[in-house]
Amino acid sequence: MTAAYVALGSNLGDSRRYLSEAIEAMARLPSTRVEARSRVYRTPPWGMLEQPPFLNAAVRLDTALSADELLDALLAIERAAGRSREGERWGPRTLDLDLLHMDGVRLAGERLTLPHPRIAERAFVLLPLAELAPTLDLPGQGQVAELLAALDCSGCEALP
Ligand code: ATP
Ligand code: CA
Ligand code: CA
Repeated sequence: MTAAYVALGSNLGDSRRYLSEAIEAMARLPSTRVEARSRVYRTPPWGMLEQPPFLNAAVRLDTALSADELLDALLAIERAAGRSREGERWGPRTLDLDLLHMDGVRLAGERLTLPHPRIAERAFVLLPLAELAPTLDLPGQGQVAELLAALDCSGCEALP
């Protein structure tokens, strides 16, 4: 079994529900357990600023799936949540599941890059990830807590 970290995001429809249903769907994947989940954060939009705020969270999985199999499963869960890939890059979405990191795995492929290459610049990813793994070292980027300390987290808040 390998530890895997997944970031969840949503800013269309019933976002809170998309996030919790996605976590339930991950828990039903073969040979996979949800080991820990962060709180849910409300965060300002990133990349494309004229869109509603996001809800973001992160989970740690323990899985026997390969990175490719896990990405396929995450994309299928997004599709089941009505995720459309039309429209602008970084635009509004019902559900986005990014595979952030898998222990011992580095990949730079057409379809999958690990660790996810844009973690270090994103408070909305690092805030929930730091609840799960503050001392995790992301190869090529750095330690989660240190990366977070270097970012401006204004506008991000944990929801009750
Ligand atoms: P970003 O990757 O900057 O967060 P995004 O999540 O909006 O942007 P998507 O449209 O959801 O981008 O994904 C585009 C493609 O990125 C996916 O189809 C997938 O093949 C690829 N990809 C590469 N590395 C990863 C990864 N670590 N996790 C998820 N998808 C990845
Ligand atoms: Ca993303
Ligand atoms: Ca994505």
